Amino acid sequence: GRASATDAVAAPVPRSSLFAAGGEIRISGVSKSFGALKVLDDVSLTLRPGSVTAIIGQSGSGKSTLLRAINHLERVDQGFIAIDGELIGYRQDGDALHELKEKDILKRRVDVGMVFQTFNLFPHLTAIENVIEAPMTVRGVPRAQALAEARELLARVGLAAKADAYPRQLSGGQQQRVAIARALALKPKVLLFDEPTSALDPELVGEVLHVIKELARSGTTLVIVTHEIGFAREVADHVVLMEEGRVIEQGPPHRMLTEPDHPRTREFLAKVL
Ligand code: ADP
Ligand code: MG
Repeated sequence: GRASATDAVAAPVPRSSLFAAGGEIRISGVSKSFGALKVLDDVSLTLRPGSVTAIIGQSGSGKSTLLRAINHLERVDQGFIAIDGELIGYRQDGDALHELKEKDILKRRVDVGMVFQTFNLFPHLTAIENVIEAPMTVRGVPRAQALAEARELLARVGLAAKADAYPRQLSGGQQQRVAIARALALKPKVLLFDEPTSALDPELVGEVLHVIKELARSGTTLVIVTHEIGFAREVADHVVLMEEGRVIEQGPPHRMLTEPDHPRTREFLAKVL
């Protein structure tokens, strides 16, 4: 059954005005099946505000499903997820949880930005139009203000000069950086990256990792599913290994990735490195 919601533990961290405060992610006893296949099996994790977590694990281990559950793009069968103590996708009524209506889910979802492997930009909109779309439609930000903030965000990802370019006129790395600016435009408390560089040509990976590295310093809570072990070692302060829907090992990067003392992690690294 479902546990009750919990209070947030919020150690304040310095952050720029572009970001919302807070960002503790609490995942508690989450399970999810697709038919007979148990894709998430009693996953519990608490991620501190401002922390950077790398999720690693073989293909099919449930990493994407877990990220999607944090955004309530995937409904879980058991357990709950809360951001700063606010349940994702549900409201609590005594001991029962009721799923929120779609429009309330959308409202709550602005706390959680997501960057996908395949960018998913609107092809018929320019870079800056892609960035202002959600703030204007979801948050009702006036166009002039949305444009000013979008320019600042595009500058932040190194694309000030490409504001008026269409996605097809941009490289994969540039498109992914626009996608990051777009995710930031709603001032999320947490930002989820699902293999953000795995669709990129090798020479374009670095520019995207560089932008994520900069964000890691900004104090937004980041969760990054990645096969870039060197990057995870450098940027993450927590590493989580998933296998068959379970979190099987977790710890700081030096214990997980530099001199791994966890046997399953060692096995996994021997395969991917
Ligand atoms: P990962 O991101 O670690 O590769 P996923 O979370 O994408 O893993 O998938 C975990 C398992 O769940 C895989 O076996 C996958 O085929 C299955 N799966 C994911 N989404 C669905 C879905 N919508 N319907 C059925 N099976 C799914
Ligand atoms: Mg995946």
